[in-house]
Amino acid sequence: MKVEVITTGTELLLGEILNTNFTWLAQELNLRGFDVLYQTTVGDNPARMKEVVDIAAGRADIVITSGGLGPTRGDITKELVAEYCGVDMYMNLEVWNHIHDLLSRRNICIASNNEKQALVPSGAIVLHNAVGTAPGLVLEHGNTTFIMLPGPPFELQHVCEQELFPYFEQRFPHLGIIKSHTLKVRGIGESNLAEMLDDIIVHQSNPTIALYARHGEILVRLTAKAPSAEEADALIAAMQERVEKIIGPYVYGYDGDTLPEVLGKELLARKQTIAFAESCTGGLASSLMTDVPGSSENVKGSVISYTNEVKNLVINVSKTTLSKKGAVSEWLYLFAGDVTAYYMTRSVAATLLHGMKVKGFYEASVQAKDNRAAAHVCLGNWMFYAPSVLGGGKKRAKAQFDAALSSMPEGCRPLSAYTTRDQIL
Ligand code: ATP
Repeated sequence: MKVEVITTGTELLLGEILNTNFTWLAQELNLRGFDVLYQTTVGDNPARMKEVVDIAAGRADIVITSGGLGPTRGDITKELVAEYCGVDMYMNLEVWNHIHDLLSRRNICIASNNEKQALVPSGAIVLHNAVGTAPGLVLEHGNTTFIMLPGPPFELQHVCEQELFPYFEQRFPHLGIIKSHTLKVRGIGESNLAEMLDDIIVHQSNPTIALYARHGEILVRLTAKAPSAEEADALIAAMQERVEKIIGPYVYGYDGDTLPEVLGKELLARKQTIAFAESCTGGLASSLMTDVPGSSENVKGSVISYTNEVKNLVINVSKTTLSKKGAVSEWLYLFAGDVTAYYMTRSVAATLLHGMKVKGFYEASVQAKDNRAAAHVCLGNWMFYAPSVLGGGKKRAKAQFDAALSSMPEGCRPLSAYTTRDQIL
């Protein structure tokens, strides 16, 4: 069932508001097995609106509009669609009474232009809008079903959930469900990940698998189409198991999970606490962690030693180390343990984490790509990852990383410890 969504409103074209109606509708429709193939945004202009409706009716089975059902002259969706379908409008008394009741309850005087909102195209099904004055409408014309929805997102969602989706279930019972599940991955580059999953990617059918590289992470999206939600879930679960057998150690969360949330939960489960010694990130790492509700259970505190002076006076990094090694530590030397970051960590761990002794970082792997490389180091139970400028062959890097992963303590996961503001975000 091909769907085109037309969102109307000059505000959208001016970039003044985000088109959240489309995003929401697309997700909900896909979930219900509709194929959302086109989306158009058009201003409140009759000629352009007519053109868009005409094109949409020519290529989609269902045309859904959002907006333009209000009481003003600029609200033209209903009038244009009725004209396109060649039907008159009539005053629908139920809608009129609802508008009357709603406005009286809100102590708003009814205006003459509210009558316009009670006009319904002949033959249309009214989708009751309990939270607003403009009802949704369904109008069938030839092979096309027009569905008109109010623009305010809260009203649109309410009308869909209460009226439109139940109508769809009766009208299109044969449609299956499309469900997606996202695995969130860190600590590995997109090309390496694609290589590891090559066999699954090449032979994919249902569910499909897609990789999306984001800033600092990769999303692996599994999408299944099935007659019911349960069957889609089962298909996804089987595929997820196969995928995680291969890339499991890099998966830090699912769907809406964020790294600070996942880290916070894990700390809580292990009854562990965390402290930060930050420099050029200026407190960003601790800020991300303290944004998570319940973080007071596991975040001890942070020392933002932005200048060398503070590194020396507050967290005891010697002036000799600072002048010899510099404030920014080369990860290569980090393994040897004699760099500024090492002393910063040691000092903060000793003061904030019950005198915990940091004996030294040790090398877990070096993963190189072009001239950039990623160094993976373990500290206690945590495995950290940081970009660096080390050289080294890809093969050697992979072998080292695999070895590091297999020797990681049970329950330990690779995490990203970034060195700059940009990388942390
Ligand atoms: P009203 O009865 O309030 O006039 P309407 O059905 O005519 O509703 P519009 O006037 O087009 O709808 O939009 C009302 C408001 O809803 C807009 O000012 C905007 O804030 C919001 N809105 C409209 N379309 C969208 C959209 N696609 N995405 C997000 N918000 C939207």
